[in-house]
Amino acid sequence: MASLRKRTHAPKPANHPKIAPRKRSRSKQEESDDYSDTRCVKCGSGQYPAELLLCDKCDSGFHLFCLRPVLVAVPKGRWFCPSCSDQGNPSNLTLVQTKIVDFFRIQRSSQPAEKLSPESKKKRRRTGGLVMSKKRRKLLPFIPTEDPDRTLEQMASLATALNATGTEFSNELTYIPGMAPRSANCATLERDGMQVMSKDDTETLNLCKNMMEQGEWPPLMVVFDPREGFTVEADRCIRDLTIITEYIGDVDFLKNREHDDGDSMMTLLTAADTSKSLVICPDKRSNIARFINGINNHVPGGKKKQNVKCVRFNVNGECRVLLIASRDIRKGERLYYDYNGYENEYPTQHFV
Ligand SMILES: [Zn+2]
Ligand SMILES: [Zn+2]
Repeated sequence: MASLRKRTHAPKPANHPKIAPRKRSRSKQEESDDYSDTRCVKCGSGQYPAELLLCDKCDSGFHLFCLRPVLVAVPKGRWFCPSCSDQGNPSNLTLVQTKIVDFFRIQRSSQPAEKLSPESKKKRRRTGGLVMSKKRRKLLPFIPTEDPDRTLEQMASLATALNATGTEFSNELTYIPGMAPRSANCATLERDGMQVMSKDDTETLNLCKNMMEQGEWPPLMVVFDPREGFTVEADRCIRDLTIITEYIGDVDFLKNREHDDGDSMMTLLTAADTSKSLVICPDKRSNIARFINGINNHVPGGKKKQNVKCVRFNVNGECRVLLIASRDIRKGERLYYDYNGYENEYPTQHFV
């Protein structure tokens, strides 16, 4: 297989793959000792050294997640960077496709995912008109990118980001023995009451989930920015009130996490009895929500950048957190969500 970072330039026998397997267990210290020099040509960062792929001709480095198309896994055989290869290797995309279907456990089916009926399309258009009242707050399903190759690129960008951060993909809240049990997620415990998701909105949420199981994904691209880390961009326009994703992770009691400086915890339940309050911890299992950055409302321009809102709902008696477009979002815009008014409960190091 093509090599990740390597330390020597020893000649290798022709047609014999270089062996430089990923060593995730290597300590940070060792990593910086051995491989501190290689940086990614695309983003200029030396972060995530285990994801840096080296060109077999010129030795320049590229993060798997910075390549376009993104590579999900280290290619078998030799790999040449974009400037050393005449053309993008068409076999890359096949590799991406196979891996992606496995990675996200997409159901292979001859039937295309349920499309919106003309009826519901009409309805959607009407609600989007000028008369459309935000009062109704009817949620919209995301609309996937039409180009299937582009969808694969979006999924590949998520897969590499999950790999790089050691996160397992999950699209449902997870309940792990030793943490909060599912029975603890009881929306009626919410201190001031939690809004109950309407029947229509629940159907829309289920539609989004079903689409994802069939490989129809929200039009989002994970990109790496050396300053912000992984971040998420809209890959087509997204209408106000569109369900972008559910916030996913392991559910735990807040009291177990109070001294946790862990990644991007999200409030799930604020109970009157604080020992029953719950948080979502996306560091081990999550979906794209993990890579969407929160924004500090108190910095100048913060409010303006914010285009996504975290909204908590009572769905069939359980609390769920959805990320919902809070205005129309243009293609290429980065997504930023708000604090949701509970800023004290969030660690702020991942807010920009
Ligand atoms: Zn990079
Ligand atoms: Zn090269």
